[in-house]
Amino acid sequence: MEDKEKPQSTDINSIVNFSEVAEFTEEDLGKTVTITTAEGTYIEQVIVKTYCQFCGEEIIGTIRAAGGFIAAHDLYHKAESPLAQMESMR
Ligand SMILES: [Zn+2]
Repeated sequence: MEDKEKPQSTDINSIVNFSEVAEFTEEDLGKTVTITTAEGTYIEQVIVKTYCQFCGEEIIGTIRAAGGFIAAHDLYHKAESPLAQMESMR
């Protein structure tokens, strides 16, 4: 008995072109998608979930989107509350 249909979260069956808005949910985590935006085509991007360590907001999206999310929150929160940042360095 061969397992020809074993479930794989990272298979390429889930490649989709999101030419407009990509709405990812928890069910998309681990999937690999190809996304076309105005900037270009992002090929075989893994969908991940992460959160902001400062305010707890979450994002589900490509690693690129998640990285941008974290970087933007990091900059925002540091600019917003320099005192909190200094206290965390004690
Ligand atoms: Zn935040």
